Formats: sequence, C-alpha cells, structure tokens
Amino acid sequence: MLFGTTNYVNDHLTIGGVPVPYLAEKYGTPLFIYDVALMRQQMRAFKEVFTKRKLAHRVIYASKAFCSTAMYQLLQQEQLGCDVVSGGELYAALAAGMDPAMMEFHGNNKSKAELTAAVTAGIGKIVVDNFHEIELLNQVLAEQQTTQEVLFRIAPGVTAETHDYILTGQQDSKFGFDVASGQAEEALVQLLHSPRIKIQGIHFHIGSQIFAATGYEKALERTFNLLTKWRSKFGFTARIVNIGGGFGVRYTENDNPNTPVQLMTQITDTFVQHVQEQHYPLPEIWIEPGRSIVAEAGTTVYQVGSSKHIPGIRQYISVDGGMGDNIRPALYDATYNFVPVELTNEHNLAPQTIRITGKYCESGDILQKSITLPHLAPGDLIAMQSTGAYGYSMASSYNNNPRPAVVFVEDGQDHLVIRRETYADLTRLNIPLPNETQSQGKVGVTDNVRI
Ligand SMILES: *Cc1c(COP(=O)(O)O)cnc(C)c1O
Repeated sequence: MLFGTTNYVNDHLTIGGVPVPYLAEKYGTPLFIYDVALMRQQMRAFKEVFTKRKLAHRVIYASKAFCSTAMYQLLQQEQLGCDVVSGGELYAALAAGMDPAMMEFHGNNKSKAELTAAVTAGIGKIVVDNFHEIELLNQVLAEQQTTQEVLFRIAPGVTAETHDYILTGQQDSKFGFDVASGQAEEALVQLLHSPRIKIQGIHFHIGSQIFAATGYEKALERTFNLLTKWRSKFGFTARIVNIGGGFGVRYTENDNPNTPVQLMTQITDTFVQHVQEQHYPLPEIWIEPGRSIVAEAGTTVYQVGSSKHIPGIRQYISVDGGMGDNIRPALYDATYNFVPVELTNEHNLAPQTIRITGKYCESGDILQKSITLPHLAPGDLIAMQSTGAYGYSMASSYNNNPRPAVVFVEDGQDHLVIRRETYADLTRLNIPLPNETQSQGKVGVTDNVRI
C-alpha cells in the first residue's frame, strides 16, 4: 500500500522523486518525510467537493495534526485557513504569516491571556466552548474595547465508531455545550445578550479517524433541528455551520478504503438536504480536517539496530526511534504498516514475523506488535507509513532522545523544514543550582562536552 508519490525506483523507496536512502544519509534517522504533492492534492480535493456544488465553504486545517512554519506556508499557498488550540499554536501560525482572519481558536480551557492574544491579533473566529469562556471573553472584549466574531461549539450527543479517547461529540464529553440538557440553548441566549460578541454560527466535532458518514449525518440532523427551532424562537440564523474534522485515513490495509473526500461528499449531500427540507437560509459549510490532510503524506524512516529472538515466542527488532516520535501505538493502540526502504534479493528470500520496538526505556515502546516483513539486518532502513498526523506534533524528548528532523519533498526537491533537535537543545532550558556545586570541580555544569 503506497500513497501519493511514494514508489520504488531501482529498488529504492522514493518519495516526491527523492530516494529515501539519500534523505536518510543527508538528514539522519529517525526522519519524517512529507510528500507535499499529496498534501496539496488532499487540500484541493476537499475544496472541490464544495466548489462543484457551488457551496460557500472554508477548509480549515487543524494545526494540532502537524504544524510548522513550512506547513503554514503551504496552507497559505493553497488558501486554507487553520485552527489553533493554544497560545503557542496561535504564536506559531502568526509568526509564519497566516492571515489571522483565516484562523479559528478552539479549546475547552482557553486562558484569559490566550483569549486576549487571539482578540488583539484579530483572529477570525473564536469557537466558544463553555460558560466560563463566555465570561472571560466578555471581560477581554470590554478591556480591549472591541468586538469579536464567534462560533459556538455544541456536543450534539452522537457517538461515532472510533477509539474512546478520540471521541468528542458524545454527551459525556469535556468539549462543547451539551444539547440534551439545554445548556446549548442557554449558551446561545448568553451569547446573543453579549453586545461585544457577534455570533456567526455553530460548530461540532464528533471525533477522529471516522469512516462512516452516519455520525456526521446524525449530528447534522440534530444541528439543523436546533437551528430551525432557534430561528423561530430567537430570530437567530447561523451564517456558518462548522462540522469539524475527523475524517478517517488509511494506516493499514485493514482500514476502510473510502477516501476522506468520498466521506465528505456524502456528508455534504446530507447538509444540503437538511437546508432544503427545513427551508433554512443556506449557511457556509466549514470543515476542519487535520489527519486527512497530513497523515498519509508522512513517512517515518528508521534504522534497524539490535534484535532479540526468544525461541518459541517472538523476534524483536529495535529501531532508532519509537514512542518519542510516535506515541500513537502506545496511547491509542494505533497500528501502522511498514515497508523496506531497499529491496534486495536477500530481503525477498526470508520474510520474518517480528515485533518492532523503539529505543525508549518502556516496555510499552512498541511501534508494531506483529508484522511480517522481509528479513532485516542491523543498519537496514525501514519506513513506517501514514505517520504524518499526530506523530511529530505529539513528539517528546523522553530519555533525552532528540526529536527527529522533518523534511518536505516535492518534484525531486527536498527541503529541511524542522531541524533535528541537538543535545544542546535538550539542556537549553536547564538552570544550574547556585555556586556550591560548582566549587567542587564544576560538577555537571560544563559547556565543553562533545559527544
Ligand atoms: C482535532 C480536531 C480536529 C481535527 O481532527 P482530525 O481527526 O485530525 O481531522 C478538528 N476540529 C477540532 C475541534 C479538533 O479538536
């Protein structure tokens, strides 16, 4: 299962026209490689669903899936918006030149400082999540003597089929105003009575890695029922309906082959149907894909190191990364596919069933519990596929292993977009104790370590 521009050329895995062994040699391993053409293709395909139907829309990339300066530049080239969920993401997106008008601010516990930063930056929409936030936002707007456009997030009370930790639309969730208990309506009333808050529409996000349209369709049905009720009760008309993200991608051959765009097409048809049936003034449809734009475009390359054979039990193969660059297998039981980087005769002869583990000091540092692959020897490179979402963005420097480098490839060109962390980076935030320790021969504090 090879995605986008990934293929084998002269028995070398090649992405965006650049041989992976060359990239591994140039930038080291572990290495994240992103196929830029595939990301552009996904972004354009989402837009096309709406342009074909002449629907006013906005495609807003969810920064948390993977963001970097280069990623924000790519979004600008393709005229996508982005969401941010923290002051840090806001800072990074603005620093990379994103137009604040094309941005949204999400989150269930935005601080007053974060809200102030977003408002003063001129952020397009704040997606209000809870009553405390309405109060904070009103304070901020009064202090700043300004107004702010918002959407408000409801928990529509639907359960999509995915991992519990990535479910977000059910009633028992920390996100959004609960519909069933009337909190959503109460929130609407408060927002309508907040003179500095300009409410533009509604938002839901039901979860992540979802393949079936049913969850979205149910949420849309509930949303349009509410909107119709609120239109007659309060004279409120939503100009924007934001249906969030969560469109599923393929990690392994077992995943549903429906593409995010096929799913989106089905959801969009339902959206239009509700608008027509309820005679609701056609709102803009906004979506927030994260994973579906970057996941399949990302490949992690590791170098094989040690191995351990336990007779009658299993063969372990360890690679030079692991849970520090990809926590998803440990956190969500996520599974991935691996392919060899170089095809040799020796590889073809002896497939092995192995467990692939990382180099971190945790038994749970397993990248793949069981997979059958051509024989691998120390020094060989292997590629883990579909790692573009929630890989680097969740990376840590646990065990003081530096976070990997990230490279973008397109049309035979490679661009380093995040450099590999150095050992010096790892201690950059450390502050030594005052002098006593240093008088005994500068214990632990020296800047001439060379490794
Ligand atoms: C995480 C998130 C998304 C993106 O989800 P994906 O599964 O990456 O598409 C979109 N909207 C909100 C509010 C989110 O929290």
